[in-house]
Amino acid sequence: MQIKVSDTFLQPLIKINRTMRAKIVAGNWKMNKTAQEALTLTQEIIEGLKNVELGANKQVIVCPPSLYLSSVKNTTENSKLQVGAQNCHQNDFGAYTGEISVPMLQSLDIPYVILGHSERRTYFGETDEQIKEKVDKVLAYDLKVIYCCGELLAVRETGAYFDLVKQQISTALFHLTPTQLQNVVIAYEPVWAIGTGVTASPEQAEEMHAHIRHLIAEQYNQEIADQMTILYGGSCKPSNAASLFSKPNVDGGLIGGAALKADSFLGIIACM
Ligand code: PEP
Repeated sequence: MQIKVSDTFLQPLIKINRTMRAKIVAGNWKMNKTAQEALTLTQEIIEGLKNVELGANKQVIVCPPSLYLSSVKNTTENSKLQVGAQNCHQNDFGAYTGEISVPMLQSLDIPYVILGHSERRTYFGETDEQIKEKVDKVLAYDLKVIYCCGELLAVRETGAYFDLVKQQISTALFHLTPTQLQNVVIAYEPVWAIGTGVTASPEQAEEMHAHIRHLIAEQYNQEIADQMTILYGGSCKPSNAASLFSKPNVDGGLIGGAALKADSFLGIIACM
């Protein structure tokens, strides 16, 4: 006999699982802002956050260009704002002109690093294997990873997007121990939605996030999957953030363009 569990029964359970995991809104500034603009934006966000009740499980992060990590980090002292890097190298130190290493980030007390962003994959040829090495390095130094995955438009159109994301996640993350995985946040960013103004619908985001959570449950277990924070990224803005974040498996956002202005970034944070 099949027992049908009603939605009204399931809702509180979904809520319990959601409150267990962190909710995050992270801004990826990419290669934008002068030094002075970066500080002004940081100060405006800090000011705006004074009116926001974040509570224990909500976090706000900005990821400025690496040149400004130190000054932005200093500006955020005693504020609710955290700072992350946009990338790092997989080696500790050495002759890698133009790169930054994880020990360097650690020496500035930077807690988060974005890895696997589609722009790193597309313009700098980063492979899943390379990204895996970077993931290992970041975790070895006790920093946290925001791991980006997501399919190109061509893959979405063939219908193979679930498999593609499975391949990205399993190559870069599934060798990690459960303890290591606790220091990873996943950002699903369909490439066709990044910087295009085309947002995935809340339903499209939810089905992929649920798929990712299911993959983690299969590889590890349901409890670990329930604790994983999964962000959506791709043309997220104040006008669509609430509907995206209302989905049970969407735990916040990785924000590009809309993170470059304090009012739009704060508008998204308010939807968290
Ligand atoms: C991003 O690049 O991570 C991103 C989500 O960009 P945008 O919000 O501009 O689409």
